[in-house]
Amino acid sequence: MNEILLKNVYTEGRRTDILVRGNIIAKIADGIEAPGAEVIDCSRMAAIPGFINMHTHAAMTMTRSAKEDMKLQPWLQYIWKIEAHFDEETLYWGNKLACLEMIKTGTTCFNDMYWGVRTAARVCDEMGIRGVHSYCMLDNGDMEKAEKERRALLHAFEDSKSFSSLNMFAVSVHAPYTVCEDNMRFAAMFAEQNNLLLHIHLCETEQEIIDAQRDWGCSPVEYCESLGLLSDRVIAAHSLWLSPRDIEIMGAHGVTAVHNINSNLKIASGYKFPMEELMAAGANVTLGTDGCGSSNNLDMLEALKTAALLQKAWRKNPEAIPLNTLLKIGSENAAKALGLNAGKIEEGRLADIALIDMNNVWFTPNYDFEANLVYSANSSCVDTLICDGRIVMRGRKVDGEQEILDNAAACAERLMSRINS
Ligand SMILES: [Zn+2]
Repeated sequence: MNEILLKNVYTEGRRTDILVRGNIIAKIADGIEAPGAEVIDCSRMAAIPGFINMHTHAAMTMTRSAKEDMKLQPWLQYIWKIEAHFDEETLYWGNKLACLEMIKTGTTCFNDMYWGVRTAARVCDEMGIRGVHSYCMLDNGDMEKAEKERRALLHAFEDSKSFSSLNMFAVSVHAPYTVCEDNMRFAAMFAEQNNLLLHIHLCETEQEIIDAQRDWGCSPVEYCESLGLLSDRVIAAHSLWLSPRDIEIMGAHGVTAVHNINSNLKIASGYKFPMEELMAAGANVTLGTDGCGSSNNLDMLEALKTAALLQKAWRKNPEAIPLNTLLKIGSENAAKALGLNAGKIEEGRLADIALIDMNNVWFTPNYDFEANLVYSANSSCVDTLICDGRIVMRGRKVDGEQEILDNAAACAERLMSRINS
C-alpha cells in the first residue's frame, strides 16, 4: 500500500513524524521507520488539516472580475446573463481552474452549488481533491421550470451513482425567494429520503428579510421551518441577517451555517455574522468563500483572517473568536457537517493534509504557529497538499498547471465573445 512519511513535522505544538498509509493517517509518533515509504523532510514545515470550503460555485471562476462595484441584484442579473452562455467546456475549465486555485491555497474539499455535477466530479477525480456537488434548483416561481428542475435533480442524482469516493452528491435550492414552495418541500423530502445534504442560500441580504415579511409574514428561516426544510442535513450559506428567534430555530435543528465574509463585504450585504450566537444556540458554524464572481478568489486562509478581524471589530472585543475556534470553522466543523472523517491531524482520519512552509518571514519568530498562519502569512505558505493520501501539490507545483491557465483564459475569451456577439 502507498505510504508517505512526513519526517519531523510540526503539528499540535510539537515536532513528530506522521505516517500516511493508503488514504489514512496511520500513525503519529516520534522516530517512525517505514522502509519503502516516500519520505518528505518536514523539518521546516507544519502539517494542518486541509481546508474545507463550505460554500462555493466552482465553475464561477470563469466570471472572476467580470463585473465589479455593483449591488447584489443587478450584479446577479449580469452574472446570470453570462452563465446562460456557459457550455460544457466553460464548466470543465472553470472547475479545473477552481480546483487548481483551491489546491494552491490548501483546500482539500469544497461544498459546491451549481449545475453540471458530472463534469465537476470528473474534474475532482483528475485534480485529486474532494467535492460535494449539488444540483442547484432555481425556478423563480415558474411552474414549468419548477417541473424541469425536479427532473434535472433526479437526473443529476442518477449521474452521481457513478461518482468515485472523492465525490459526494447533495441537493440544493438556490434560495427561498428563487424557488417555489413546492420545490422547497420536494428538495427537503428528496434529501431526507436519500440521506443527502441540503445546500441553500439563506438570509444573505436585509432586503431578503423585508421581502419575506411581505410575502410570507415571517422570516426566511421561519418560512423554511414551516416547510419542514430545516434539519442537521441543511447547510445554510450566508446566514447573515438572523433574528434571535432565527438563531434559536437554526440551533434547535442543528443547521450548519456557512460564513462567507469576503463575498458579504464586497457586495455590501453586511458583516455582523452572529458566529458566537449560532454556536451557543447549537448550530454548526463553518466558512466558505462563495463563488469567484463575488469574492474573486477561493482563498480560505484569507477568509479566516477577514472573518476573525471583522468579528473582533464589530463586537469591540479582541477576545472574540480565539484562534482554536477560528481554525475549527475552517476544517473540523466542516468535516463534521459533511460526515467526512477528516478535518483533524489524528490517527485514523483521512489523510487530507496541507504542509505549511515555515521557512520565511511570516513564521519568524514563531511564538504562536496558529497566529502566524492566520494573521501573518498568506496562502502562498502552502507548500504541499495531500488529499486522500495522494500528493496533489509538491513544492507549490501542480501537474498540468500551465495548461489549465492557458485553456481557462482562452475559454473565457470565447465565452465573452459569445456574450458580446
Ligand atoms: Zn453563493
